[in-house]
Amino acid sequence: MTSSEKKQIPLKEGLFRLPEEGREGCLIGSRCRTCGECFYPKRFVCANCYSEDQEEIALSKRGSIFTYTIARVAYPGTPVTAPFVTAQVQLPEKVQVLSLVTDIDLNDVKIGTEVDLYFWKTGEDDQGNEVMAFAFRPVRP
Ligand SMILES: [Zn+2]
Repeated sequence: MTSSEKKQIPLKEGLFRLPEEGREGCLIGSRCRTCGECFYPKRFVCANCYSEDQEEIALSKRGSIFTYTIARVAYPGTPVTAPFVTAQVQLPEKVQVLSLVTDIDLNDVKIGTEVDLYFWKTGEDDQGNEVMAFAFRPVRP
C-alpha cells in the first residue's frame, strides 16, 4: 500500500480496532489482573481495586441493550440524523458501552435486544481517508 492510498482510520484512537484482513474489529477494553473487573474504555488503574496491573483485551462483539433513549434532535455537525437510538450496551464482560444503535425500528427497541458491533464510515478526512466509528445493530438471524 502506498501512502497516497485511502485507508480507514478510527474516529478516535484507542477505543476500537478496525477490521483488517484476517482480523475482526473490536472494542478495546481492559481487564484488571488483580480482581478481574473489565472496563471500557480501557483503564490504567482499576476503578474497583485501584490496581495498576491492567491488561488490554478485545471485548465481545455481541451484547444486549441495557437501557436506551430515542433522540429526536440530531447533534449539530454530526453525520447522524434524528431520530436515532443511543443505548447502554451490556457486554458479557459486564462492561457497558454507550453507543448508537442503528438498523432498528424505533418501535422495536427494547431492553434486552441482542445487538452486534459493526463499523461505519462517518466521513472523510483531508487526505480522503475514511473516518470510521462503531455502532451496534440488532443481531440478524
Ligand atoms: Zn481491580
